[in-house]
Amino acid sequence: MRIVVTGGGGFVGSHLCEALLRRGDTVWCLDNFSTGEPENLAGLRDAPGFHSRHTDVTAPFDVPGPVHAVAHLASPASPADYGRLPVETLTVGSRGTENCLRLALRHHARFLLTSTSEVYGDPEIHPQPEEYWGRVNPIGPRSVYDEAKRYAEALAMAYRRSLGADVGIVRIFNTYGPRMRPYDGRVVSTFIRQALEGRPLTVYGDGGQTRSFCYVDDLVSGLIAMIDSSYSGPVNLGNPCENTVRELAEHVLSATGSSSRIEHRPLPVDDPTRRRPVIARARAQLGWAPRVPLDEGLRRTVGWFASRSPSAEGALHHHTVHHPVGA
Ligand code: NAD
Ligand code: UDP
Repeated sequence: MRIVVTGGGGFVGSHLCEALLRRGDTVWCLDNFSTGEPENLAGLRDAPGFHSRHTDVTAPFDVPGPVHAVAHLASPASPADYGRLPVETLTVGSRGTENCLRLALRHHARFLLTSTSEVYGDPEIHPQPEEYWGRVNPIGPRSVYDEAKRYAEALAMAYRRSLGADVGIVRIFNTYGPRMRPYDGRVVSTFIRQALEGRPLTVYGDGGQTRSFCYVDDLVSGLIAMIDSSYSGPVNLGNPCENTVRELAEHVLSATGSSSRIEHRPLPVDDPTRRRPVIARARAQLGWAPRVPLDEGLRRTVGWFASRSPSAEGALHHHTVHHPVGA
């Protein structure tokens, strides 16, 4: 297949491009690198069938045909990133999504929308099934992302219902793994970086809030299953194993062997208190379930972070970490 991956230079997108190339697909990776890293694609540049174009998908664009699928991942995703890029986030979720839907329609291609568990907001229903409509603050600091994704879902369904577009929606829960940016502000990357640097782990609030963390390889196999399916969804993709943020900090300390302290910081506005996917639909419709347990996924992720910073790698091997002054 010839597949367009928007946001292919990002964390999840680069793993998706890699997995698609591995199974023999041709990949057109479109990215403006606002939150992605060209280095994520370093290993793919010479791969047969790989094409990468610096593209902002909020402006009209085309890709030489044929195109069999458009996987639309372009969007800032970390709360720190979309807090810094609020209007860009709304624009890529709205106009960017529409441009990608039009591309798919022109080529009679399958369209995959990577939506998010954030559409559930701070949920009253736990765990979250796809039938739940969510509880989102429409004007809070997270709304630029949450509402952009909710709008993108509505737009994708309108294209399906009124124009016959072959649309599939996935709602991704917290995903982690190699190629997260060490300073992206997300909890797994932040804790691993802090642990490897011997700095305190910054737990927001009392750390009693929960998330359910999915390893990136598991997520990517779910994305590919959805690309290959004709199911419209929405379908949750995430790992139903739920942890408090405090527990995550303990797992990271043990995966790194770090003796960093835990330091509490104020809880961000509208931080959801709990998150855990019901994945019955993904099992039934896609035959998908995650396989990599948290400790194994963290071990792989820590290995990647450490390999990029020689001093941290040394610390990891000796299970002793320096304690520089400051956070
Ligand atoms: P990321 O920030 O690493 O990747 C997003 C990519 O999109 C980046 O490479 C960025 O440069 C690119 N991009 C942003 N705006 C663009 C534009 N206008 N034109 C072209 N490219 C643009 O984030 P990620 O974690 O890899 O997330 C990928 C997708 O998955 C996002 O749509 C995100 O909302 C969704 N998602 C991710 C998670 C997660 O836990 N990682 C959870 C839920 C949903
Ligand atoms: N968090 C934390 N310390 C950090 C970064 C995040 O305690 O340094 C918390 C954050 O408040 C939230 C959880 O970890 O409760 C997940 O945050 P992240 O930004 O990774 O994802 P999201 O809030 O979008 O689920």
